Amino acid sequence: MDPITQLTEIFSHFPGIGPRQAKRFVFYLLGQNDSANKKIADLIVELKKDINSCTRCMRFFSDGQKSSLCNICSDESRDKTKLLIIAKDVDLDNIERSRSYEGLYFVLGGLVPILDKNPEERIRQFELKREVERNTDLKEIIIALSATVEGDHTAEYIRESFKTITEPRGIKVSVLGRGLSTGTELEYSDIDTIKNALKHRE
Ligand SMILES: [Zn+2]
Repeated sequence: MDPITQLTEIFSHFPGIGPRQAKRFVFYLLGQNDSANKKIADLIVELKKDINSCTRCMRFFSDGQKSSLCNICSDESRDKTKLLIIAKDVDLDNIERSRSYEGLYFVLGGLVPILDKNPEERIRQFELKREVERNTDLKEIIIALSATVEGDHTAEYIRESFKTITEPRGIKVSVLGRGLSTGTELEYSDIDTIKNALKHRE
């Protein structure tokens, strides 16, 4: 495969990018000078070196040190009785920006497709279980996934598979209110919609 085809193929696997957009990226790069392209290549190589994954919420963060906890998980003033589950890191950023949530987070790392045979491999189920068991102050789990078929299915899957832990401990499991209209990706929701969805969780 020639480099144009190879790079197009790679870009087309990026979230939300189709083959046509992928090809546009490749031609954009062809129009750049060598030093600009080298900078991009170097940044990609370096990307994961200074980035840690938080051992509790699993989000990626960079603090210039090798800390194991991110700034949210290590912040003593956060409300430890609440754990909000989101699919990906960008969702967390959006909810933080809405300034309407003060509890802890967990980044699930994906969603469970319907009829999937190994759902526990699609999401960070083991890590979530560890976090729920570790946090003895926990009173509510808020599932904040996209208002899509997969999002709903994943929410139901989590609810069911955590019953044996949540029910004996009296932990409430809620989902975001449907201020998010059907089919909405949390990632693209505006701050007011997120605020509303949090307020009207059920
Ligand atoms: Zn964290």
